[in-house]
Amino acid sequence: MYALNYHRASSLEDAVKLLGDSEDGKLVAGGQTLIPTMKARLAAPSVLIDLRHIQELKGITVSGREVTIGAGTTHAEVAASKEIAQICPALCHLASHIGDPHVRHMGTIGGSVANNDPAADYPAAILAMNATVVTNRREIAADDFFQGLFETALEDDEIIKAVRFTAPAKCGYEKFPNPASRYALTGVFVAADADGVRVAVTGAGEEGVFRSSEIEAALSKNFDAAALDGLSIPSDNLMSDIHASAEYRANLILVMAKRAVARAKS
Ligand SMILES: Cc1cc2nc3c(=O)[nH]c(=O)nc-3n(C[C@H](O)[C@H](O)[C@H](O)COP(=O)(O)OP(=O)(O)OC[C@H]3O[C@@H](n4cnc5c(N)ncnc54)[C@H](O)[C@@H]3O)c2cc1C
Repeated sequence: MYALNYHRASSLEDAVKLLGDSEDGKLVAGGQTLIPTMKARLAAPSVLIDLRHIQELKGITVSGREVTIGAGTTHAEVAASKEIAQICPALCHLASHIGDPHVRHMGTIGGSVANNDPAADYPAAILAMNATVVTNRREIAADDFFQGLFETALEDDEIIKAVRFTAPAKCGYEKFPNPASRYALTGVFVAADADGVRVAVTGAGEEGVFRSSEIEAALSKNFDAAALDGLSIPSDNLMSDIHASAEYRANLILVMAKRAVARAKS
């Protein structure tokens, strides 16, 4: 590591001020992405602003089917939430399969969403459930939030306060994990309610998380894994890398979608 200044923000207001006062300040939450990035010298902020001690960023509120998760809530806390499990067990399942216990106890939903890694799990849930990302300035619909690889609608000095969504009647998530990191080689979140079916895919898109119109159309007619039999997912715009080809990922999207539907109906 190298010399830098560390600030422990005591409130959201404090964090906004510290961020505004610094030229290249970086927020740190769980540090599970930022610290390895700094160790690899891919980021070198001269100021770190620690969000971990801000109470208003923590916690889960459930009212009926309305769920609000504070940005500073860890993956382990979401995985263990009995209130979320009752209305949206797929999200607990998703959180419980992120990385390893260390990552789950340190990493936060706000950090994951802000980072928008193309293989991260939460973006699929947030896009499929049409969630809202609440910041210190505004509310951003999921459809507008994710804008490409590691790109979001967040401004440089904007802080995520929470993620809010209405739990769909049925939802499911399945991923094929990278055996080393557990990131999604391909992951699919399906969400079905009276308004229709939304399906979001992570780990496969060249531009990050995306909705699958083919799968949404098939499941809107019949919300059953069998409705996806014979469907073919185009491999254009899918990632090819050392882990898997675009064609392999196209097949994984279908397989994971079928498993996610089966889980949603179980
Ligand atoms: C070994 C390993 C395995 C992993 N496996 C998985 C996996 O299987 N699935 C998966 O989805 N993820 C995985 N991750 C990533 C993990 O989920 C991280 O927790 C997450 O990507 C970042 O969250 P964080 O709280 O650690 O954020 P940090 O690393 O602290 O920050 C990440 C970025 O978000 C910004 N940020 C943080 N909080 C806010 C906020 N409230 N508002 C605005 N910007 C903010 C920071 O400035 C930084 O740019 C893995 C990580 C590791 C190290």
